[in-house]
Amino acid sequence: MKPQRILVVGAGHVGLYAALRLSDKVRRREAEVTVVDPQPHMTYQPFLPEAAAGNISPRHSVVPLRRELRRCRIVSGAVTRIEHARKVATVQPIIGPAREIEYDHIVVAPGSVSRTLPIPGLREHGIGFKTIGEAIYLRNHVLDRLDVAAATRDTETRRRALTFVFVGGGYAGIEALAEMEDMARDALKYYPELEQGDMHWVLVEATQRVLPEVDRDMGAYTVKQLIKRGLDIRLDTRLESCVDGVVKLSDGDSFPADTIVWTAGVKPSPMLDHTDLPRDPRSRITCLPTLQVVDGDRVLDGAWSAGDCAAVPDLTGPPGTYCSPSAQHAVRQAVRLADNIRDVIRGKAPTPYKHKHVGSVASLGLHKGVAQVYGIKLTGPLAWFMHRTYHVSRIPSFNRKVRVVIDWTLAFFLKREVVALGQLHDPREEFTEVTPKVPG
Ligand SMILES: Cc1cc2nc3c(=O)[nH]c(=O)nc-3n(C[C@H](O)[C@H](O)[C@H](O)COP(=O)(O)OP(=O)(O)OC[C@H]3O[C@@H](n4cnc5c(N)ncnc54)[C@H](O)[C@@H]3O)c2cc1C
Repeated sequence: MKPQRILVVGAGHVGLYAALRLSDKVRRREAEVTVVDPQPHMTYQPFLPEAAAGNISPRHSVVPLRRELRRCRIVSGAVTRIEHARKVATVQPIIGPAREIEYDHIVVAPGSVSRTLPIPGLREHGIGFKTIGEAIYLRNHVLDRLDVAAATRDTETRRRALTFVFVGGGYAGIEALAEMEDMARDALKYYPELEQGDMHWVLVEATQRVLPEVDRDMGAYTVKQLIKRGLDIRLDTRLESCVDGVVKLSDGDSFPADTIVWTAGVKPSPMLDHTDLPRDPRSRITCLPTLQVVDGDRVLDGAWSAGDCAAVPDLTGPPGTYCSPSAQHAVRQAVRLADNIRDVIRGKAPTPYKHKHVGSVASLGLHKGVAQVYGIKLTGPLAWFMHRTYHVSRIPSFNRKVRVVIDWTLAFFLKREVVALGQLHDPREEFTEVTPKVPG
């Protein structure tokens, strides 16, 4: 029998774990695995807030694909189209013309993108918080704004530079806001020109609560803690406009801000619009609990999906509920999905995915956190410690775990680094300035 061709679209939490598991559990003569992703690494997104805050090196919060997936063929590019009726995917490599890849099984896992709204000025002035590039840009930008505020004599410029607005109070938004504020507060020790009270950190959340992933009392605790730290928490409030960086809120308030971070949820990858795969009203690929793609009653042969882009029934909840878009589900679904592909290749029936969401852990800055795991509620340093131990146990590969623990240990003894490397975002500027133009 010829080896089955397995194509993995996206090497994130689902794609990387599925490819690793397939490498481990399927014999070479049974299957060959091709992984397509425009990035050369998987990003462990739960570590983005800590990477932005400088507790973890950016390189250590990502997992290099070529190093970890030695048994897979890696294609650096994006899948732009899937015609499952022909079992063909179109890949746009990072260089050169697009090409088609044929497959027997496809794992569709391109994840999600920021769910934005048509708010005036958002496109021009907002930034998301989903990629390592965004996290590190934000870190450098926030530290750079401290330098601007310290250098200027104009009070309006200073006020604008020191106003940081985060929109969306889920775990990504809350962790990003709390970690960045914690870092800036630390950094202020080295800025005699600035005072803690000069900074204005604002959370804008459309609903009446934050952290919907945990119980209300834990969300309320988080709000209380953030207010105690001097943060400006606006619940039941929406961002209405940010034209020219002037933030206008639905509560009638308006102020200029140099930093507007959008963390108000995610939606499935828009690449799915260019596929013939069935989707639900929220644009997610419809799946069976076995992670096979299903169109009504018809199971699509060789099509699999999981993670943020998939509607996977939650067998532990009431009928009609679906697994939440979380790393917790994504990595477990990936393992189930890989084992199911192996079983189907070997002529066995696939097994349904079943996992009861154990809860959430969130860091609110150094030694501060909130956790609700298996019904147990923790706050403060204990919750923060749980957040760290949980995520270090989850990041793939021993190599990354060691690097992350070393980063934390160094930051503990030597204090975290709070220097802006803004030059990284425009490294050729100085060189082009000193290099003469050649006429003609
Ligand atoms: C800041 C932040 C903090 C978070 N914290 C937590 C947490 O504490 N706990 C938790 O459970 N969850 C957390 N999450 C959510 C979690 O990270 C996601 O649910 C999870 O990453 C989903 O996995 P995925 O494989 O579906 O998508 P991803 O991990 O996003 O992977 C998608 C991959 O597909 C690639 N890709 C995209 N388009 C294409 C294409 N056209 N062709 C090929 N490849 C493509 C991307 O480059 C990426 O590598 C957090 C998310 C963020 C942003």
